[in-house]
Amino acid sequence: MVVAPICPAMSSFTVAVVDDDAAIRRLLRLLLHRAGYETREYATGQEASVSLREEPWDLAILDRRLPEMDGIALAEELKAIPEFRWRYIVMLTGEDDQDAKVEGLESGADDYVTKPFQPREFLARIRAGERIVRLQKELLETNKRLELLSITDGLTKLNNHRYFQDELVRAFEESMRYGRPLSLAMIDLDFFKKVNDTYGHAVGDEVLKCAAKLFRQSARSTDLVARYGGEEFAVMMPETDLEDAAVFAEKIRSIIESTSFDTAAGSIPVTVSIGVASVPHSRITTPKELIVAADKALYRAKKNGRNQVQCEKRRDPAAPRKAPQEQAV
Ligand code: GH3
Ligand code: MG
Ligand code: MG
Repeated sequence: MVVAPICPAMSSFTVAVVDDDAAIRRLLRLLLHRAGYETREYATGQEASVSLREEPWDLAILDRRLPEMDGIALAEELKAIPEFRWRYIVMLTGEDDQDAKVEGLESGADDYVTKPFQPREFLARIRAGERIVRLQKELLETNKRLELLSITDGLTKLNNHRYFQDELVRAFEESMRYGRPLSLAMIDLDFFKKVNDTYGHAVGDEVLKCAAKLFRQSARSTDLVARYGGEEFAVMMPETDLEDAAVFAEKIRSIIESTSFDTAAGSIPVTVSIGVASVPHSRITTPKELIVAADKALYRAKKNGRNQVQCEKRRDPAAPRKAPQEQAV
């Protein structure tokens, strides 16, 4: 009978050994390898201080007395680096008095082992450290996943409305501070209710996913493409003036119009209406006003017959625009 493993194979675990005594390094290497750990070795605090920033490690065994930089200073330095806070440090020393132990632990070490040590107890301590490090890693990964989920739209996998709002506020402030252009395109699928009514909600979902993919593929990596809500999407374009944003919007409009949306119900023609607005603009002073301006332009695109791009109306001689398809209503 083949029994499936209960949990997937554990990832490797690297122990960094920092000790100026080659015999101790060799002993630790043998012990740790036999217990299944990978190791890295450093003979000085200085060497470890440089290398441990570059090379991967999970747990470090630091000799307290080291040439150049001692174990206490090294532990303090490593624990001060934010991404190293969860790593585990075992201080290894010949000094057995209470003050030395307290100083070692308060410098950032998580455990303190005095030489000569008992291999069994030593390895049990390393395994205890490994458990803590693995738990911390899991926690960090879960947090990262949750963070990503909280800013992602479940259906399209684009950034969601909340993330878009936050990023727009941030980009708007930056644009104002440095006097840099920032554009916003609001994209709405035309007659999308009809898609749902005719083919069902699941096919509507397929269309939304496919449209989202096309938007993402068409945008630059510095642009932010988000699902604004329902069948409405937003593209924030830093360092892009109204003219270039209108060209981008027209490219998207044309791609959507000429793409065959192959769904379970067959190929469905889809078009979009797009409203574009930009700063600097004499009458746009907040992110909300930028959204309103793009929304108004989108409304005109709908009113004028859909499947088109409209830009915010601009009577600002300081910032002339040459947007294609511009039609003042
Ligand atoms: P217009 O051209 O004026 O934009 O018309 P429209 O039909 O696209 O706009 P309307 O606002 O009347 O309808 C939007 C539709 O989008 C209605 C709503 O059920 C549908 N919708 C919103 N979110 C989803 C979704 O996640 N999945 C699906 N399948 N449909 C959605
Ligand atoms: Mg619509
Ligand atoms: Mg809509």
